[in-house]
Amino acid sequence: MLNKIKIKLLTFSVIIVFIASVITCQAIYLNKKEALSKYNLSAVVDENCLNGKLLLDYVNNTGSDVNELYFCLYPNAFKEEENVYNVAVKDRIDEAYPNGFDSGFLIVKKVLVNNREAVFSLEENEQILKVSTHSITANDGATVYIEFYTELPDSPMRFGFGESTYNFGNWYPVLCPTVNGEIIKNTYVASGDPFCSEVADYSVKITAPNDMRLAGSGQIIKKENADPLKATWHIEGENIRDFAFVLSKNFKLKSKQIDGTIVYSYYIDNDRLGQLALDCAASALKVFNEKFGKYPYPTLSIVAADFYIGGMEYPNIVLIDKNLYMSVKEEALEEVVVHEVAHQWWYGIVGNDEIKEPWLDEGLTQFSVGVYYSEVYGRERYKMFMQENEAYCKVIFKVLENLNLKFNKSIERSSSSFEHWLLYDAITYDVTALMLDTLCKTIGEEAFYSSLQLYFEENKYKIATKKDFISSFGKGTGKNISSIIEPWLKGNIHWG
Ligand SMILES: [Zn+2]
Repeated sequence: MLNKIKIKLLTFSVIIVFIASVITCQAIYLNKKEALSKYNLSAVVDENCLNGKLLLDYVNNTGSDVNELYFCLYPNAFKEEENVYNVAVKDRIDEAYPNGFDSGFLIVKKVLVNNREAVFSLEENEQILKVSTHSITANDGATVYIEFYTELPDSPMRFGFGESTYNFGNWYPVLCPTVNGEIIKNTYVASGDPFCSEVADYSVKITAPNDMRLAGSGQIIKKENADPLKATWHIEGENIRDFAFVLSKNFKLKSKQIDGTIVYSYYIDNDRLGQLALDCAASALKVFNEKFGKYPYPTLSIVAADFYIGGMEYPNIVLIDKNLYMSVKEEALEEVVVHEVAHQWWYGIVGNDEIKEPWLDEGLTQFSVGVYYSEVYGRERYKMFMQENEAYCKVIFKVLENLNLKFNKSIERSSSSFEHWLLYDAITYDVTALMLDTLCKTIGEEAFYSSLQLYFEENKYKIATKKDFISSFGKGTGKNISSIIEPWLKGNIHWG
């Protein structure tokens, strides 16, 4: 996700607001050779609601016996107004709910395991579904069938809708993964992304009004017109970590092919900026293919959406705030598009626990924007970008100090432990990018990129941790990089 751009644009007003307030007061081993779980999903969409069915062909890759399965029901984070600060930060609540609070949720209607009624219960404010199963031994499997009903809130969020788009992000029950023997049962946090899931294969059928255009994860295999008013999209996705889609009556579409991948730009009205988003995404894809490793999927969609937080990544699809498609915001549009494309590598292909180690995807992604600038515009632009990161952090630290907020600057902590969302933003994105810049300068570009490529290859389709990052760089350089990055991870910032 990237909310920083908008914040940067708003920095002046944010500072004024703050001044005013001060005055007044070990990876999962999901080797492709092993069988993956498969999500067979169908959804019948009516406006902001859908009736869904999930038939999960579950494969136990945990390495031990399993007696119960857990699923994240992220939509229920949006259910109650009293929990609203778990989905949006206080300072931006009016942007999250421009028409006032509206509830979004997921209701589980039926659960079968191997075609038999199963016992299930809801935990953690209904955000976690627990399904009792028979004992499933390692490498064995089971089928889990879940019937559910999902309703999007009237809200320009990744799970929500606005004037132009219906954003179906995290709309179905997602299996909680097991990492190093621990089941990761993440629930929503307002700052950053709360997601962590295994890669799987997907076969999805979505039925929606015929006058809608659909952009989504995976590849559209065919579109059938069931009746004059409705269409059914058949979509397949291999080796993807999640499945999101966006529907709109207003989408225009442009596309181009790069390195064997078709890049799509779905946009609402401004043709020139729809093209710009496409061109930036295609350039970013090419740069990252060369610098990190090949994007392994046939399509990538850049989608203008009612989304107030800048940009949001899902496998094969990224959501971009439609308000960035304006001439005066061209640079911001480019940065957000490039950031979200970089997430395809750091979050999508190489996964991580976004709550526990948010720096691992956001920091690498922020650094990747610098890599793009360097390759497309030259070294000076890269330096400028790093200087901007540094300046931004210093402003945020000053603002928080003026608020008499006690905070520490460590990178290595969970997204829910930050003392303020602006601090989460500055540390997880910018300070981590500066740390990676220092690492690159210290070990040399050649060693840095060969190690990063190794990190990508070794953790492709897995859920990586800091240990894996250090391990790949150790193999790539023959050295332990801990002495370089640990001071940063512990909060000892070395400004450039
Ligand atoms: Zn991000």
